[in-house]
Amino acid sequence: MSECPVIVWLRQDLRLADNDALAAAAARRVPVIPVYIWAPEEEDRWAPGTASRWWLSRSLARLDRSLRRLGSRLVLRSGPSLEALRDLVRSTGARALFWNRRYEPAAVARDAAVARTLETEGLEVRTFNSSLLFEPGSILNGSGGPYRVFTPFWNACLARMDLAKPAPAPRRLRAPASWPRASKLERLPIESRTSRTRGFETFWEPGEEGAEAELQRFLAAAMEAYPGGRDRPGERATSRLSPHLHFGEIGPRRVARQVGSAVLESPAARAVPGEAFVRQIGWREFAYHLLHHFPESPERPLDASFDRIRWSSDEKALRAWQEGRTGFPMVDAGMRELLATGWMHNRVRMIVASFLVKDLLIPWQAGAAWFWDTLVDADLANNTLGWQWTAGCGADAAPFVRVFNPALQGRRFDPDGEYVRRFVPELSRLPAGRIHQPRSNGGRSQALPGMEEGYGYPEPIVDHADSRRRALEAYRRARSSRRADA
Ligand code: FAD
Repeated sequence: MSECPVIVWLRQDLRLADNDALAAAAARRVPVIPVYIWAPEEEDRWAPGTASRWWLSRSLARLDRSLRRLGSRLVLRSGPSLEALRDLVRSTGARALFWNRRYEPAAVARDAAVARTLETEGLEVRTFNSSLLFEPGSILNGSGGPYRVFTPFWNACLARMDLAKPAPAPRRLRAPASWPRASKLERLPIESRTSRTRGFETFWEPGEEGAEAELQRFLAAAMEAYPGGRDRPGERATSRLSPHLHFGEIGPRRVARQVGSAVLESPAARAVPGEAFVRQIGWREFAYHLLHHFPESPERPLDASFDRIRWSSDEKALRAWQEGRTGFPMVDAGMRELLATGWMHNRVRMIVASFLVKDLLIPWQAGAAWFWDTLVDADLANNTLGWQWTAGCGADAAPFVRVFNPALQGRRFDPDGEYVRRFVPELSRLPAGRIHQPRSNGGRSQALPGMEEGYGYPEPIVDHADSRRRALEAYRRARSSRRADA
């Protein structure tokens, strides 16, 4: 019995260090079989998108390389997960299966079914939390319900914070007498054949080592200036850890302890180094806890009156937004950054989301779906929170009537136009004073010396003042029809 292998089912925890399931398996001193199962059909509507698949295939290759250094390897299979696990149990004689929990509704349901079935068949199943600071459902307000406002939620988290020291990577993993059958990474249809992800290598290094390098860069070069710099998309002032956190190449415990030990030691302190950063990790927690309490929220607004807004179905406007051709420089720079790199700065995510939902009156779900396909950090909890927050229908959301003005946002957060210049080359020669509103002369473009009329840059697809009024009116009607029904 004691020599029977343990299977470790890896999913969104593609790392060796600070990985509770792997550490528990290694501690048994029996052979360990790390496995990844490609089963996109088990993710409901949220199978990984194009950019995520690009990332995932590289992350799996790196994880396999790291495991081989420990005398192990990553066994790859395709789904259905239950069948793949059953087959592995049969062929290896494993008596135990460990995994770190996932919290997306489809994964929760699938995992519960897998655990039930395999336990009935005599397998020991143990699960762990390696991707959040607190188990969703464990932080509740005074009435035993979920927090809907971030600050009290985070204060409750800080009051209970007692982070265990993350376990180091195992030094060795015992291999089984013979390895089970496995698929080759190149044979699994993980990465889509597309030119859309070309060039992503320049920006990212998927995998645990890449995550560590990004964390060290942030600590050395950006952490101190983060509270002020985090809103400047032209600077590299944030950690860019989001895809690494999503795929579990680094865990929040490790990041929070390293960046925010001062905050964790003295939760009441506000002006300690790392506070602003650890707070963002808090927003990630909040997002996961909300998804747990409101599993329908990726599709449905928390504020039901949003379903009554008369949304537009203007496909042409949606395409212009997706392709960064709206004629609003901050919006276009953001959407082009997304296409070029698979990522977008948080401030700009808010600007483009507000523009889609309010200026174009296109439902937030259409924006969330586009982000899902194009972001390397696409994450069901964070994406849902981000979209519902910006649209104004989520927990602790910005009110709908707060409509971002892209030109004002640009002048405030990209004052010298650095960011727009990087992603909208048509405007690269405009001076800072003109770059966020290249057509401020009654809507007509003015040629600068050496530039052709219009700079080859699109005319604005809407008039911001008009579209703002239209949005507020649509919202007012939706609210008053709710009152009439009540
Ligand atoms: P940093 O500023 O360095 O923050 C560190 C970490 O904290 C991030 O990596 C992330 O895990 C977490 N974090 C930061 N801000 C937020 C936030 N507002 N909400 C939740 N967690 C946060 N983030 C995703 O990871 N995946 C998404 O799919 C996603 N979609 C979004 C959609 C919209 C419309 C908006 C407005 C925001 C979205 N975010 C999403 C949140 C945020 O924009 C990104 O987490 C952040 O830009 C990632 O960059 P960073 O790692 O440099 O962040």
